[in-house]
Amino acid sequence: MTSRRLVITAEVDEAIRRHGQETYPHECCGALVATGAGVAVAVPLSNTTDEGPRRRFLVRPSDYRLAETRAREVGGELVGFYHSHPDHPARPSQYDLDHAWPNFAYVIVAVAAGRAGDMTVWWLKEDRSTFEEGTLHGDENSDSDTAQAVYR
Ligand SMILES: [Zn+2]
Repeated sequence: MTSRRLVITAEVDEAIRRHGQETYPHECCGALVATGAGVAVAVPLSNTTDEGPRRRFLVRPSDYRLAETRAREVGGELVGFYHSHPDHPARPSQYDLDHAWPNFAYVIVAVAAGRAGDMTVWWLKEDRSTFEEGTLHGDENSDSDTAQAVYR
């Protein structure tokens, strides 16, 4: 079985890392909008909730509406969400699992001591028991036939 893959532009890759560094030591969070087969737009979601700065990743209904609106504006589709793990590995937590929705890609970037590092992508298994790790691809490898086939 091959793992699922998510293609993101270099700009989106950079935007996610920058967002994670800006909100450090708090989590950042945002939505991923794809146009075609690749993620071309990262929509930052507010780092502040009613309880103060986000401590744990949670997409609220208002976040979801904002992301859907933005996706429509650019003629794209909401395909997932990203968030950061300040001083924690880029692996989903139990909380992430409890609050994830099926069919969305979840990108996690580890931010250690204020610097963005590992970035991973996950999909919820159909029975919601766990996440399955996918592969994250930049679109800069345009010399690779497979990457191009997925992105175009
Ligand atoms: Zn998390």
